[in-house]
Amino acid sequence: MAALPLPAIHVSHAGCWLRDAGTGGNEDAMTKTVGKGAAITAAADTPMLMLNAPLLASRLGYPDLSGLDLLELYAFVHPARFIVPTPHGLARVLELREPVGEEDVPALLQAAAGALLERCAAPDWPEREGAWTALQSLLRQRWSWAPLLAARIAKPERAERWLFTRLPEWNDAPERPQPAQIVLAEGEVADRLAQLTGDGAETRPGQRAYAAAAAHVFAPRQPNANGADARARMLLAEAGTGTGKTLGYLAPASLWAEKSGGTVWVSTFTKALQRQLRRESRRAWPESSAGGSARADGSPPVVVRKGRENYLCLLNLEDALQGGFSGRAGIMAQLVARWAGYTQDGDMVGGDLPGWLGTLFRQRGVAALTDRRGECVYAGCPHYRKCFIERAARDSTQADLVIANHALVMINAARGRDAAARPTRIIFDEGHHVFEAADATFAAALTGVETIELRRWVIGPEKGSKGRRRGLSARLADVASYDDASGAAIAAARHAAEALPGDGWLQRLQDHAPSGPVEELLGAVRAMAYARDESGHDGGYGLETEAAQLDSDFIERAGAAQAALAAIRQPLMRLGVRLEALLSEPPDWLDGAGRARIDGARHSLGWRVDLLSAWESLLARMGGAADPRFVDWLAVERGDGREYDVGLHRRWLDPMQPFAATVLAPAHGVMLTSASLRDGTGPAADDTGWASAIARSGAGHADITPRLAAFDSPFDYAAQAEVLIVTDVPRGDIPALAGAFGRLIEASGGGALGLFTAIRRLRAVHGRIADRMAREGLPLYAQHVDPIDTGTLVDIFRDDPRASLLGTDALRDGVDVPGHSLRLVVMEQVPWPQPSILHRARRMVHSAGGQAYDDRIIRGRLAQAFGRLIRSRGDRGHFVILSSALPSRLLSAFPSATPVRRVTLDEALQRVAGGVSGQGALLHRDPLAES
Ligand code: SF4
Repeated sequence: MAALPLPAIHVSHAGCWLRDAGTGGNEDAMTKTVGKGAAITAAADTPMLMLNAPLLASRLGYPDLSGLDLLELYAFVHPARFIVPTPHGLARVLELREPVGEEDVPALLQAAAGALLERCAAPDWPEREGAWTALQSLLRQRWSWAPLLAARIAKPERAERWLFTRLPEWNDAPERPQPAQIVLAEGEVADRLAQLTGDGAETRPGQRAYAAAAAHVFAPRQPNANGADARARMLLAEAGTGTGKTLGYLAPASLWAEKSGGTVWVSTFTKALQRQLRRESRRAWPESSAGGSARADGSPPVVVRKGRENYLCLLNLEDALQGGFSGRAGIMAQLVARWAGYTQDGDMVGGDLPGWLGTLFRQRGVAALTDRRGECVYAGCPHYRKCFIERAARDSTQADLVIANHALVMINAARGRDAAARPTRIIFDEGHHVFEAADATFAAALTGVETIELRRWVIGPEKGSKGRRRGLSARLADVASYDDASGAAIAAARHAAEALPGDGWLQRLQDHAPSGPVEELLGAVRAMAYARDESGHDGGYGLETEAAQLDSDFIERAGAAQAALAAIRQPLMRLGVRLEALLSEPPDWLDGAGRARIDGARHSLGWRVDLLSAWESLLARMGGAADPRFVDWLAVERGDGREYDVGLHRRWLDPMQPFAATVLAPAHGVMLTSASLRDGTGPAADDTGWASAIARSGAGHADITPRLAAFDSPFDYAAQAEVLIVTDVPRGDIPALAGAFGRLIEASGGGALGLFTAIRRLRAVHGRIADRMAREGLPLYAQHVDPIDTGTLVDIFRDDPRASLLGTDALRDGVDVPGHSLRLVVMEQVPWPQPSILHRARRMVHSAGGQAYDDRIIRGRLAQAFGRLIRSRGDRGHFVILSSALPSRLLSAFPSATPVRRVTLDEALQRVAGGVSGQGALLHRDPLAES
């Protein structure tokens, strides 16, 4: 395998390495260490081989860096194939020798480029189809790899089929009958569990009991003796890490689906758990590849279902390929098209499209290829029969198991297109997040960003913007031309939507020159937020103020905006009624495709009408008394020193109220499960701590008394883990904080996850220690610093046991790294809740008082963060908090056997360097923790 004789560059926090092309076919090429200045000059002069150009650019501080990026080549040669985008990851997938030191990386890049190009020349290249055609476009677009590939990819003898003809069509299937009413016997659930765990698996009594408890939610719903509506069967099940929850509930779920012919939905909060479920579901549906066809009729029994904004919209892609995207964005569209031909399900966010592909192109082009704005034309789309979104929606109605996320389950229950396809048996895994998912789902935000989206949905894009995006009248052109009433309603809505903010709204607000009633209101919101600001922050953080004590000028503007919104809503409602009538008594001109298009439009119309109503009711209250069910406030969103949104916000004081009405009331069986459902993680036998879990499940609002079950973790926390509270790192002292992080990472030899509550401190710590760590062979990655998406950062961290990762909230939950790669978690401080208006309102109504409310939140966060550390029986590690201000009452967040020690930094370093032995651990348990 010949290396590609082109110069190569590698840059890390430890330094820069250049390798020349050599003269005689690369054998005499030399690698040398250079300074940043020399590296920039060399890269600007000659196109160089590199891996992840944006990452190199950020490390060099030279944003214009470009060259022959191996990741782009990989995306072309092996679309939809996983890779950890590091030199080691590249070496492994190509079966090349892994670099020993960083100085070996440039030679690896030359070898990898040669290997990838060679694969394209091989006759058995599995991803050949479509490559030649894509390459012709990429040559025209002057993609730097195109000439090198052109020399190796021969023109096929027969013309290649166009991507959009290659993709398979979905099939319509008849509606599934109602599931049979069955009761699962304990013995058969245990047998199914044994079958799933496999012959050689260790017996886990906790898992068996857990599976038996989970079966409860599949029992038939019974009428109420007092004549009230029947209630869902509901179970709250807390199961310590290691119980084997996933197979525990998949056992009764798969059995029920098989015997009843019904569909079970499993909902998660994180993508990491979705991936795990996808893997584990294969044990229950063995022939399935979780999305591949397994049944005789070709339908998949297991479907991963996400919000439509996650999937590739083929019409948007076609538009991008035909000139909608140009320059670098056009190249990205070609690489996405390569992926579209090989993807399992068209999922662009967390599916098999590499997360790093979007960041390589340094823009939000990937999002523009999804259907984020609800502009789908349904049956009017030439790709409708191949559409990934339609396929996932259809497949999920026929599936035994649908893997979804909390937000989608709630949105589907609230405004699903097809009532018959709404979930009725639901398992919410990561159930401790249901409250916050409901909080976000049932929120209303009347902001500049939201209103401009609505304007574009009604009117279409502003003049001069590229692309296919069309407004309502263009999407329903045929209806408008045949049906006068519809045409008039569309024209009226279009006219009224001119009152919504348009392009440049934020600048106009900043210039005190708003245009139209809604912008004028937003201008007043912005002025009010600044006038009342007492935070002392200088542009780095958002501003918010209560929607209270508003002056008459503000109230007048709110009234004018409310009237403007009503003027949009009314014709949209008239249009909805008219479309309903056309569907119930179809005129001659309405064909099947037209019907489907109207059906789709009616649905998206319905939720825009709901959105406008929610905004109007928020504005209606501005001049009067507050509605005690809601918390309303005004906000200016800011980040990195600039404003990005302005508006009014409304949240339910208790979002489980709408959750109960939309999800629990119509359901037949619902389970909420998590490792931390109760407040505190005491032993299962201790039945305290349930009150908050029940309150946060929404059961009370639906008049349900849920069953409760708790299962202890089988892990030996006394021997496997240790909590260290470091008492001598001064609060607010960034150099001391950075020093502590650096020394802890050195003591553990990497494998550390650092959790921050403020991005500013994260960046400051990273900036101070990253270079030193890298020189010691301990790579340090960071969210909000490295231009890499979070999922890929976790992949990189998992892959390299010497790497460490710094991050914020998202990492507290989304990281599932069993084994040696994660052996130290460091929290920079106690994760206090943000003192926001919403937080204050909820704190005030908490039955046990404000401090108890805060304590529960902090314990929950500590438990989640600690939960990252010990993922399997073999795991060992330390959990360090760099703050002496951790009150003992919060220590019940940790599993009860875990030793907790208050120590100096020096002692902590010794303990971390020595590893967790478990020797005498309980003797050293912090006496305060027992109180
Ligand atoms: S049916 Fe809608 S979402 Fe699907 S490809 Fe067509 S326009 Fe896009």
